[in-house]
Amino acid sequence: MAKKENKNMPNDSMEKIVALAKRRGFVFPGSELYGGLASTYDYGPMGVELKNNIKRLWWKYFVQDRDDMTGIDGGILLHPKIWEASGHVKNFKDPLVECKKCHHRFRPDKLKDASKCPDCGGEFTEVKMFSGMFKTNIGAIEKEGIEAYLRPETAQAIFANFKNVLDSTNKKIPFGIGQMGKAFRNEITTGNFIFRTLEFEQMEIEYFIAPDSDWQKAFEAWVEYIYGFADLIGLPRQNFFNHEIPDEERAFYSKRTIDIEYNFPFGQDELWAIAYRTDYDLSAHQAASGKSLEYFDDETKKRFVPHVIEPTFGVDRTVLAILGQAYAEEMMPDGEQRIVLRFHPRVAPYKVAVFPLLKNKPELIAKAREVYQDLKKDFVCVWDERGNIGKRYRSQDEIGTPFCVTVDFDSLEKGDATVRERDSMKQERIKISELKEYLKNKIEK
Ligand SMILES: [Zn+2]
Repeated sequence: MAKKENKNMPNDSMEKIVALAKRRGFVFPGSELYGGLASTYDYGPMGVELKNNIKRLWWKYFVQDRDDMTGIDGGILLHPKIWEASGHVKNFKDPLVECKKCHHRFRPDKLKDASKCPDCGGEFTEVKMFSGMFKTNIGAIEKEGIEAYLRPETAQAIFANFKNVLDSTNKKIPFGIGQMGKAFRNEITTGNFIFRTLEFEQMEIEYFIAPDSDWQKAFEAWVEYIYGFADLIGLPRQNFFNHEIPDEERAFYSKRTIDIEYNFPFGQDELWAIAYRTDYDLSAHQAASGKSLEYFDDETKKRFVPHVIEPTFGVDRTVLAILGQAYAEEMMPDGEQRIVLRFHPRVAPYKVAVFPLLKNKPELIAKAREVYQDLKKDFVCVWDERGNIGKRYRSQDEIGTPFCVTVDFDSLEKGDATVRERDSMKQERIKISELKEYLKNKIEK
């Protein structure tokens, strides 16, 4: 299906975001030193902070804040039988064609014209099925070891540990298990920067319910709760679109699936998703393992295999959505242009930058250092004494630092400092003794 273009964004906004991401240390092309490795990326100093902020907020909001949730951190390597039981070995495959002339590979179902190569017009080979799972070997000698897979999703470790979690906690159905971590897919079609890559991070929840419960109500409540997360990380609701997957396109076991699409700089596409998967997963693992995964309800005295609602989130896609949303170029009153990342302070890599007005005055440096060291105990801070104040502001704007604190000669006498806000560029004098409280209120708001 052709995706809609993002009409609110200039056509070159993706290139600008990719360029800024590299220049300011958010995302680097993977293995660039050796000429690059297609569809892989490395997160730089700013990127890792941004990504960790998203993950921390997700974990707190979805796992720690809810009494009906708990978490695990399963392995990337799982027993290969898990992937047989889940259906991945059999079904996690895409059709592939190769151009006989230029040898480029394509998914025929994603091509407008599947009869000739879009790159050179050449003829295609017959359609072959291609596994999306990366294979590896466990054991010192390749032939004697067992063949394993790098997980193509995080969810299966949750199902495989359902009984362990139940036995080791006091959770009662309905309850859910959250998990985040790396997953790997040998994609034929990659692209749009960090939108689709070979290695990526997921944040997933399996929410277990009784088979005779009102699943529609639970499903709707999760959709609403998911939008609360969008608010938390500063993604506006009007940029989202709930794409209901019609019956004929849904997995046979799913009774309802919504792709939660987002208006990315390159167009509208899937950001998150939620699916009601019935008891497909636990029943499959119960049958394959020969071990009961039933739940006994103390109150109703009923025994059943729980059904699940699965909200799932791409971390890297969320990073891209936030970068696209935050990026702005604007003309300033002095006629200069600035690039600014208008991150919500909650996700911004640095919350506060601290400057001495001048770098050659030891008394200013000493006072500014004191302020910096103290703020550092409560906020992720950065120190900058290069160039002039204007240049430092521009530099912090580009990485989305919401507040800059400047210590000047008045600070030494009056005990206050200038706080400059990123978006409005407004400046206020705040008592140094009240700085923490002031910043805390602004950041938490
Ligand atoms: Zn070709």
